[in-house]
Amino acid sequence: MNDLNDEERLILDQIERFAKQELEPYAHTLDANEETATRHLKRMADLGLMGLNISPDHGGIGLSGVALYQAVELVAGACGSTASMLTAHFLATDSVEIGGNEDQRRRILPLAASGEMLGAFALTEPQAGSNPIDMSTTAVKSEGGYHIRGTKCFISNAAYADFIIVYAKTAPELGARGISAFLIEPKNVPGIECGLPERTMGLRGGHVFTVTLNCVVPLSSLIGTEGSGFRTALSVLDNGRIEVAAQATGIAAAALNAAVAYSKERRVGGQPLSDFQGIQWMLADCAVDLSAARALGESAARVRGTGRRYSTEAAIAKLFATEAAGRVADRALQIHGGNGYTRDYPLERYVRDLRVLRIYEGSSEIQRSIIARSLLHAR
Ligand SMILES: Cc1cc2nc3c(=O)[nH]c(=O)nc-3n(C[C@H](O)[C@H](O)[C@H](O)COP(=O)(O)OP(=O)(O)OC[C@H]3O[C@@H](n4cnc5c(N)ncnc54)[C@H](O)[C@@H]3O)c2cc1C
Repeated sequence: MNDLNDEERLILDQIERFAKQELEPYAHTLDANEETATRHLKRMADLGLMGLNISPDHGGIGLSGVALYQAVELVAGACGSTASMLTAHFLATDSVEIGGNEDQRRRILPLAASGEMLGAFALTEPQAGSNPIDMSTTAVKSEGGYHIRGTKCFISNAAYADFIIVYAKTAPELGARGISAFLIEPKNVPGIECGLPERTMGLRGGHVFTVTLNCVVPLSSLIGTEGSGFRTALSVLDNGRIEVAAQATGIAAAALNAAVAYSKERRVGGQPLSDFQGIQWMLADCAVDLSAARALGESAARVRGTGRRYSTEAAIAKLFATEAAGRVADRALQIHGGNGYTRDYPLERYVRDLRVLRIYEGSSEIQRSIIARSLLHAR
């Protein structure tokens, strides 16, 4: 199926060139130095990447679902950390686009699209990850605005962000219906503090932070209406899960390409590895996993934008792609033998970068629960 128009194809060509020429050559150093991927922000902004998901009405490019999927794949295949920084920004801008009022959209989204404002999305808390309804951050309406108090953790981009979407309870007794979303510009608000970046296994340039909040924000910071935050977060995460699937297939494709090239170069017992049927079958299994993951990811991406809910499709795509990508990278590392285990080759980085994709934006177990719920409650 031909999903892309000519303009989208041109945009993807440009992203591919940028990814190959600028992101990929620096990915190893970024990871080794645990340097923030925001070093690429200016160039990405110049190329329109920061607004790929934002509608043209609000200053973005507004790529269609499949084109956006492929764009994230290209970035992730070159540098997983940069893709993580970018997709966290997408979670923040999607929160404004989906849940915000027109004033908030017009004020924030053009600046986010041009890269003048970087976003972060703050849902997770130390005692509330898989089940955000357990969150204890509160927002109490008081004179002069909402007083927000609580701690968020693992928040990508937080220390660098110009705006953070903070989810907090305005009516704790109402559970999910008591959660509201707030658009906060931390650089203008006293009482928001970020720790140092967490020391993570992978995505070492996609820094994550603990954020403590004890601040007052104007009433106009509320996104949508009180109590609509959880609904907004779920819709945002539907988009986000497709983007996580794209990160997975992007990194898996890079791992498979490396394995194919290595198997042709490396000689064992006088012949290239690629002559051995055992190696050929591993490569074939990788191609099957990758094709199936991509097909599910792009199929979910196609539903995005049709106006109907696609939580189940997004969950299926994320679950399969992140688990399949783990298998692909593991086989690709195996094909590299001892070299694959060293930091001289990117395989160990691919394995490390992929691992968290089965955890964030809803772990594999949570995706299975979403899929099962749709089966058990289908009418
Ligand atoms: C690198 C990184 C970046 C992140 N970026 C962000 C971000 O930008 N914004 C943000 O808000 N959050 C972010 N997160 C947080 C992430 O979304 C959470 O870590 C994730 O949702 C899991 O929550 P948890 O860590 O509290 O695990 P827990 O909820 O404590 O779960 C622990 C384990 O129990 C399993 N489990 C939980 N409930 C069930 C169940 N009902 N049935 C079966 N198994 C279950 C889980 O699958 C998991 O394996 C990030 C995390 C990381 C590591």
